[in-house]
Amino acid sequence: MEYIKKIRNIGIAAHIDAGKTTTTERILYYTGKIYRMGEVDEGTATMDWMIQEKERGITITAAATTCFWKKHQINIIDTPGHVDFTIEVERCLKVLDGAVIVFCGVGGVESQTETVWHQADRYKVPRIAFVNKLDRIGSDFERVIEMMEERLSLKPLPIQIPYGKEENFQGVIDLIEEILYIWYEETLGAKYEKLPIPDEYQEIVKLKREKMIEILAEENEEILEKYLKGEKIDIELIKKTIRKGTINLKFYPVLCGSALKNKGIQPLLDAIVDYLPSPIDLPPVVGFHPKSNQIEERKADISQPLSALIFKIQNDFNRGLLSYFRIYSGKIRTGKQILVVPTMEKIRVNKILLMHANKQEEVEELKAGEIGALVGLKNVKTGYTLCDLHAPIAFEPLSFPEPVIFATIEPKTKKDEKKLIESLELLMIEDPTFKVKYDEETGQRIIMGMGELHLEIITDRLQRDYGVPCHVGKPQVSYRETVTKESVGIGKFFRIIDNKLYQAEITVKISPKERGMNIVFNVDKDKIPENFYPKIEETILGITNSGLLIGYPVTNILVEIIDGNYNKENPSDFAFQMAVSNAFNEAYKNGMPTILEPIMNIEILTPEEYMGVIINDLIARRGKVLKIEVIKDYRLLLGIVPLKETFGYATAIRSLSSGRATYSMHFSHYEKLPEEEIKKIFPYLGEIIK
Ligand code: GDP
Repeated sequence: MEYIKKIRNIGIAAHIDAGKTTTTERILYYTGKIYRMGEVDEGTATMDWMIQEKERGITITAAATTCFWKKHQINIIDTPGHVDFTIEVERCLKVLDGAVIVFCGVGGVESQTETVWHQADRYKVPRIAFVNKLDRIGSDFERVIEMMEERLSLKPLPIQIPYGKEENFQGVIDLIEEILYIWYEETLGAKYEKLPIPDEYQEIVKLKREKMIEILAEENEEILEKYLKGEKIDIELIKKTIRKGTINLKFYPVLCGSALKNKGIQPLLDAIVDYLPSPIDLPPVVGFHPKSNQIEERKADISQPLSALIFKIQNDFNRGLLSYFRIYSGKIRTGKQILVVPTMEKIRVNKILLMHANKQEEVEELKAGEIGALVGLKNVKTGYTLCDLHAPIAFEPLSFPEPVIFATIEPKTKKDEKKLIESLELLMIEDPTFKVKYDEETGQRIIMGMGELHLEIITDRLQRDYGVPCHVGKPQVSYRETVTKESVGIGKFFRIIDNKLYQAEITVKISPKERGMNIVFNVDKDKIPENFYPKIEETILGITNSGLLIGYPVTNILVEIIDGNYNKENPSDFAFQMAVSNAFNEAYKNGMPTILEPIMNIEILTPEEYMGVIINDLIARRGKVLKIEVIKDYRLLLGIVPLKETFGYATAIRSLSSGRATYSMHFSHYEKLPEEEIKKIFPYLGEIIK
């Protein structure tokens, strides 16, 4: 199990333009050579490799890229640019164990950094901060640290300071070992030297180091004692304490550099290895049994049964669909059978890939803690679990929520029609909460999702990633219908066709229910034989699928078949279908049908000063705040709000809070649409639903 201590699964996140891509590229350059060549003169070898790769272009579009540093395996997981959907965020943060957050040395803590930081807070992800772009005019390391304290309410632990400022930024001073790193430009930063601290920096280093030790002394008795006695503190002890405190979220190590100028990357890699957790440093993962729903736990251990999560599906030019997975326990091996949850399909593992920056390596086996991609899996989607045949587990809900919002879509030019359809297919595989349907009646293609932002992101990806410019209609709420009181309907069918009597009679009872829809047969077998149940059920589902009031699906009802009768000389599906259709329609009309609207759970994180205006605005949107949690200078508001009233919310909350508040939303349940709203939205329904 030694190998697992040497794994780091990390994400790299940043505000757009802070330098995430440049930093990731440099990491892949500097790590590439060690694994590939193992040359003695690392510097020159790296430089050759970097030049080659720069010409060919390095792949950092993979959902996960594996690289090696000081005998440790670092898997860099691509974090989605948009982290607004709870399920996406949860999945992404479940797959990574730690993160590097890149800050711009000029901009400091920008709005997206703030969002990402707080999301990582909520999911308790250990983090390292990398303050980039220190070569730029206007950059200021100290100010970024102050901003971290003020705007993120966190405890930064600077373990480095920059050597030189702006265009004179030349290197990085390590406060732990008290050395200066200087990089050689001519080797593209691959070669560096460790030098003694220059005289003019002695004093500031002493001061900053003392500050660092003070923070560490709060976490470690031995350091505290030595600090008080003025004794020398062992470097290993310092590093051990930083590691422990980072993993326990007591503080966040802050490093500095300039990715573009090739400075600061190797110490950042050291810090990833030294301070971010390995899979066994974290608690076991929790899922549930797909049949019994009981909680199941898996430890990061190869002797436990296999459990893995598919966190991304990507289309690869050469190989087709790749399913990226992270193994939590056990191992995955080619030729072995495994179970896919929720489909419960047994599959044989065909090809396993380890994705490097410059190649895809076929491997026979991957173990707990590792990340790879499977080739050629059919019928799998993002969020599915892979597990041992005899130890099923699910890491995500078994059924994904139904879409609550929809819009029409069409390509800007007719010739893109086929490309649009194919791209939408791929997007659906990647994202199980996104759906597409073709409306035969209007001849329109409809995209459906979990919120306004969701559809915006899909549209954006269609244009940017798939190159299909398209027109998207105004988003519309997907309403539902239901009944408000218990009612009964009797349906009869009686007809002679070709001298045969087709006759059936059914009594249907409908009652309102909290969630979903059920059909129950409470009727004697001689009145309606069981072999007719499937057709009767199918007929009811057909009717309820497109509703009776306004054409939206019917939900939150219990349908009971309570009585029936038929011509025993000529039993017929057809007669029962006609009878149940009449019965259901009558019961539905008598049940005082009404319209339901989707209600969203909303979580808003805001600095305290904006809480008042945000709450007032939420109330004006027919929303409610159910709970307020205090997180230092921030308030986390937990509430509900009708989906219809959330259109344009992203812009609204930005202007209410000067861009400081962030939110996430997901579907909660359906609720009765208030009468005044019905009148506004569906005036033509008039008296029908009174
Ligand atoms: P991302 O949007 O976070 O992935 O940012 P990129 O890595 O694409 O960088 C955005 C821009 O900033 C690019 O033009 C980079 O060349 C530039 N950049 C990145 N790192 C640095 C740096 O350390 N110093 C300077 N001066 N520019 C940088």
